Amino acid sequence: MVTIDCHLHLGVIDQHTPTWWWWEQFGFEPVSVDGETIVEFLDSAGLDVGLVQGGDIRRNTFNPESPKDRNMYVPNDFTARQCEMYPDRLYGVIGVDPLLDIAESLNEIDRCVEEYGFRVLKLLPTYHHYRPDDRRLDPFFERCLLHDIPVQIHLGWTRTINTTMEDQRPVHLDRIGRDFPDLKLIVAHLGHPWVDEGIAVVAKHPNFYTEMSGWAAYGMAPHEPVEEIYKALKKLKYYDCLDKVMFGSDNADCVDMYPLANEMSREKDGVELYSEETLSKIMGGTAAEVFKIRS
Ligand SMILES: [Zn+2]
Repeated sequence: MVTIDCHLHLGVIDQHTPTWWWWEQFGFEPVSVDGETIVEFLDSAGLDVGLVQGGDIRRNTFNPESPKDRNMYVPNDFTARQCEMYPDRLYGVIGVDPLLDIAESLNEIDRCVEEYGFRVLKLLPTYHHYRPDDRRLDPFFERCLLHDIPVQIHLGWTRTINTTMEDQRPVHLDRIGRDFPDLKLIVAHLGHPWVDEGIAVVAKHPNFYTEMSGWAAYGMAPHEPVEEIYKALKKLKYYDCLDKVMFGSDNADCVDMYPLANEMSREKDGVELYSEETLSKIMGGTAAEVFKIRS
């Protein structure tokens, strides 16, 4: 079965992502990421396919030491070029600042789907300062339904200083699930650290999915992210949601976290968290269906 990383970021230093962003966002050395870098990363992790995203967060994201520096922009055309270079390995994620110009953003979604074959719309409520269930977003959910593509929404914490924490809570997805029951919605990061809320919305809405990308970077000791993943998976299993989990890395080397979480379950509870079959769904089977990627 195909293996898929559903959460990968593109961005070339100075061209799209300035040096300050890396220190502000991640606290470590800046690195340029293009299609070639991602394919090398996938090869080293033993993964077949990556969903790659750019994005436009110029409106609200700035260098805290120099507020005029707002050049955080990786255009969809750049993403498309990387995907074209690596067919069957890379698939595009649409990035827009939806409320900056609603009509233009909707046209951009059409263009990315129709011209480039992008597979999903990414929304970043906390970076763009809106609540995910803001009714101005409804035309975007309708457009995703029209194109039969999922929407992947950043939920949860980020260290970027000018994000709005009140827009990070997974509970704000509930109204979307009620009003758009057919929309496939991916709760990115499972709303970390509001993980229980993330699990609650994923468990409630039949077409909600999740990924725990970024968690590899949260722990202070190497075992901590695995332990966090193990605890979340145990709860997701309780709600019968393991087949709604997809692997996503946020560009971090963490492909072994799911087998390690299973090992932790064997040690602590004397039982497996999941079978090989469920693990292969997490590592790509579910994503292949959601993003319509040949497996
Ligand atoms: Zn990310």
